Amino acid sequence: MVSRLELYKNCVKKLTERKIDNAEFDAMCIFQQAFGEKSPLSKPDEEADSSHIYKVYNDVEYRCKGEPLQYVLGEWDFWKYTFRVGEGVLIPRPDTETLIENVLDICKKNTLSSPKILDLCSGSGCIAITLDKEIPQSKVYAVEKFGTAFEYLEENIKLNNSDVKAVMADVLLPETAGKFKDFDIIASNPPYLTQKDMTELQPEVRKEPESALYGGTDGLDYYRKMTPVWKNSLKAGGFLCYEFGMGQENAVGRILRENGFENLSFAHDGGGIIRTVTAEKSEENHG
Ligand code: GLN
Repeated sequence: MVSRLELYKNCVKKLTERKIDNAEFDAMCIFQQAFGEKSPLSKPDEEADSSHIYKVYNDVEYRCKGEPLQYVLGEWDFWKYTFRVGEGVLIPRPDTETLIENVLDICKKNTLSSPKILDLCSGSGCIAITLDKEIPQSKVYAVEKFGTAFEYLEENIKLNNSDVKAVMADVLLPETAGKFKDFDIIASNPPYLTQKDMTELQPEVRKEPESALYGGTDGLDYYRKMTPVWKNSLKAGGFLCYEFGMGQENAVGRILRENGFENLSFAHDGGGIIRTVTAEKSEENHG
């Protein structure tokens, strides 16, 4: 017989041997899911049954092969919600919660109780779905180009009982933008890693889709291409909200100003990095 605690210790040992950082955290997440309990080690001496042992070892083995923990679990939490994830879709990151805070602030300050919101490069849908849930009267659309990510987006909409409208299309094509009009807010976490960043990725991040990470040589391709095209989908006085990478704030700010946006406001993520910008489409600029 194997107790839960013995099983846990074995898992931590296996993960540590394979040089997995945070072996204890990963083992605990795998345990929580396998046992369906928040504190599976509160009963350390309880015998683990064979189905739990099988699932736990299977997951640990998968993780030992370098698969991201979130893909092993097949789901990850963002804000107050759970999102299905796996190969082919970017894993929701806590940094992106800053963008959610920004949009909620905009709605509060401008008393937008039923805003029309668009999320571009939606991936798992964590931005669109969270906003839809947090602003019950909102109308949220999500645009995603890639088939695998789009399937996760649709699955996550159902899983969270959300009524986000998912659209499969390429955000870089002007004809896509032409179909969306009169939005109050556009939010996006586009790919923004530079060519240099791509050579320095952690092994786990390398398992995530390059199409969700790589933003061209200087990481700014999407901001340069999306801003002039999508500003026409915003109402005058509407807001464009971007996440970007470390050190990109000046360049992204410049692109926004060149496109007639004003009242730029930058925000830090939980790690203290300037991570997002919100910008207002000027009232005169009807694009
Ligand atoms: N935040 C991601 C990372 O650092 C990048 C995601 C993106 O390019 N939007 O890996």
